[in-house]
Amino acid sequence: MKAEGVDLLGTAVGHMKEKDFMGMDREWIQRETENFHVFYREADRDFAGALIERIEAFYQDICRRAYLEPEEDGYDLYVCGTVEEFLRGTGYAKEYYQDWMVGNADSVRRRLCILAPRGKGDLSQEYQEYLIKVMLHEVTHIVFNRICPGNRCGLWLSEGTAVCLAGQLDPEHASDRDYPRLADLAGETDPVAFADKGGYTYGGIYVRYLMELLGMERFLSVYRGECRLEELLENSFESRAIAFCKELQVRG
Ligand SMILES: [Zn+2]
Repeated sequence: MKAEGVDLLGTAVGHMKEKDFMGMDREWIQRETENFHVFYREADRDFAGALIERIEAFYQDICRRAYLEPEEDGYDLYVCGTVEEFLRGTGYAKEYYQDWMVGNADSVRRRLCILAPRGKGDLSQEYQEYLIKVMLHEVTHIVFNRICPGNRCGLWLSEGTAVCLAGQLDPEHASDRDYPRLADLAGETDPVAFADKGGYTYGGIYVRYLMELLGMERFLSVYRGECRLEELLENSFESRAIAFCKELQVRG
């Protein structure tokens, strides 16, 4: 599951001035929810509407589960119509951009960006749902970044948590024989290498199982780095986690 992106929390390149982005044209429509200032174009109205319908309740739920109050200033959320606009919004360099990058969270600028369905020319219901989950993934990063800023908790824990809570778990495509060990994922700091190891798929599964074993409160203390994970894990953790999530999926 690569496409939800290497979102590199808080590391967006700083060469873009705010007003350059806002001033691109005056066609932005703005809608306010309790915690989001959503900007979109008329052409993306349906998608923006579907997103707005989900994002606020999700954000509040994630805050509650993380024992946090919503932050006061809220966040800007840009529904970008083209890849070019997405690059401006995220600050990604053109050379860095890859086709599967469609969502981004920037905790420092308090800005979320999503490439609208028309940006990829796919207006299907499935793709729209896929993109909404990408945005929920980014919202999860925004919240959990407050618990452990700047991915210090490790890529696997940060990505695994976002995948898990955004409803992107995909145990159907996980192998119960050929899987990365948690220790291997945990040592990975390069986002692309992490993705290549199946980090999103298996990270999500391992986090889901960990939440089950520990409960949310203890899971959060692991996330904060307050307790050492190794002591909590037995040898067959990975295969148990995969079996658990496959079973969850069967039960629906
Ligand atoms: Zn992510």
